[in-house]
Amino acid sequence: MCYTLGLAERLSMSDSVWQIRRPSSGIPRAAAPNLRGMSRVELGEWLTRELGAPRFRADQVFGWLHLHRVDSFEAMTNLSKRERAALGERASLDRLQVDTVQRARDGTRKLRLRTTDGHAIESVLIPNDERGLTQCISSQVGCALDCRFCATASLGFTRNLDTWEIVEQVTRARELLASEALSEGAEWTPRITNVVYMGMGEPLHNFNQVRRSIEILTDDVGDAIAGRRITVSTSGLVPAIERFAREGLGLEVGLAVSLNATTDPVRDQVMPINQRWSIATLLAAVREVPTSRRRRVTFEYVLLRDVNDTDGDARRLVSLLREFRCHVNVIPFNPHPHAPYQRPSDRRIQDFVAILREAGVQCWLRTPRGDDIQAACGQLAADA
Ligand code: SAH
Repeated sequence: MCYTLGLAERLSMSDSVWQIRRPSSGIPRAAAPNLRGMSRVELGEWLTRELGAPRFRADQVFGWLHLHRVDSFEAMTNLSKRERAALGERASLDRLQVDTVQRARDGTRKLRLRTTDGHAIESVLIPNDERGLTQCISSQVGCALDCRFCATASLGFTRNLDTWEIVEQVTRARELLASEALSEGAEWTPRITNVVYMGMGEPLHNFNQVRRSIEILTDDVGDAIAGRRITVSTSGLVPAIERFAREGLGLEVGLAVSLNATTDPVRDQVMPINQRWSIATLLAAVREVPTSRRRRVTFEYVLLRDVNDTDGDARRLVSLLREFRCHVNVIPFNPHPHAPYQRPSDRRIQDFVAILREAGVQCWLRTPRGDDIQAACGQLAADA
């Protein structure tokens, strides 16, 4: 008999040193499906099955939700009264509630959103210029991994976010931008031009919902964001990177890999997931991800003082990544109360980056954004 282990089963096999955390709860299953979390194709199938509606209804309902951002079925005025009533009985338009919006000195904003079952998640809006922003979104409540430098890890792992809860972070942010523009009498509403799955959680550990959320966010019947402006960041969940490769997702969106060390003993310590999938195994999986010709894979490297920041590390990083067409995102550690690490000195950071650049590695140095409100990389802990 042929039996293939599912991802969850393979991840929780007992033969390894390190174990991925199990969720403490499941995605709440509402009596009626939330239409905000259906792709347009799924919406079409559902509308045909439940209401006997013609196919073009899917485009209309999808546009109401994702372009016009309506809050009720009554507002979908090109649907018949009968259809609107039937939707009211059989579907839901549940929302995340916006708890707080904090603004940092540099204009970065952190939204704390509340799920219907009472959990807090965070999402960050980072201005690029006066017309455009990058949004950093969460994929889980807490995280199943335990990267030692990351504040989210201190929360433990509650559950995956449902597709609609991922998409809703963007919808809520767009509403906020629209209402601000209106109250300021601005000539235009700034747009969310880029989305990065770098908030709370490990997006590839919530593969199905993340994939469906990408399908919704990039659909041009909605307020489409181009796939090339979307990046999914992973701590190195190798079976999921293999699936990402198999399903050709690398041709649609960008992949970022949090490498964060150049030797297995150091990576084992700062990212225990490395005890399961070593640096060599991880890089072998990344090598197999087909990407479009214009696209490079990104490697993130959090610089931790006296842990992974020596000249030797910089040189090893160059040789590890030599074969990749890639960018390196150097992120000086953002301090928070849950981690025992420190940021290297400015001099050390500059010297590290200089070695990469001299060796011809394309490299960005990330200045912290929103760190005065704990909104920078690795600081999201929903005020735990
Ligand atoms: N789980 C995913 C996405 C969330 S973390 C991942 O691991 O990639 C997003 C990025 O922030 C990762 O590159 C991570 O290494 C980095 N990061 C985490 N904590 C940090 C901290 N305290 N300071 C700076 N960067 C941090």
